Amino acid sequence: MKKLSYLVLALDALALLAFFVLDDIAKYMIDFFPECFFYSRYGVECATCGATRCVFNFFSLDFARAFGYNQFIFCLIVYALILFVLLNLAMLGLKFAQKACGAMVSWQAVTVWGVLFIVFAAYRIAVQV
Ligand SMILES: [Zn+2]
Repeated sequence: MKKLSYLVLALDALALLAFFVLDDIAKYMIDFFPECFFYSRYGVECATCGATRCVFNFFSLDFARAFGYNQFIFCLIVYALILFVLLNLAMLGLKFAQKACGAMVSWQAVTVWGVLFIVFAAYRIAVQV
């Protein structure tokens, strides 16, 4: 439990740091990333197109724009934030948070996210073709 506490505290510090510097880094990073191969070849957005812009807009608190760029990544960020809060509560010894964390990182949860990703990818391509 003590190792987990240090890990959670390190994640807290990292998240706080990221929140303050991400917006400045975003301006440089967006030019750094290459254009999506799938998009440049077929002219159709793949499941991960807009992920970077989604993350940067989310942490710039422009949620509507972030959701517009990539709905799957938006939901994944919200999920990660909920997990993040629960990890902190679990570190304080709250039993419900410990149980919830276990469920959120279980193989069932990962499988559901995997299936959702495939469905999202298929839907996103289908509506553009
Ligand atoms: Zn793409």
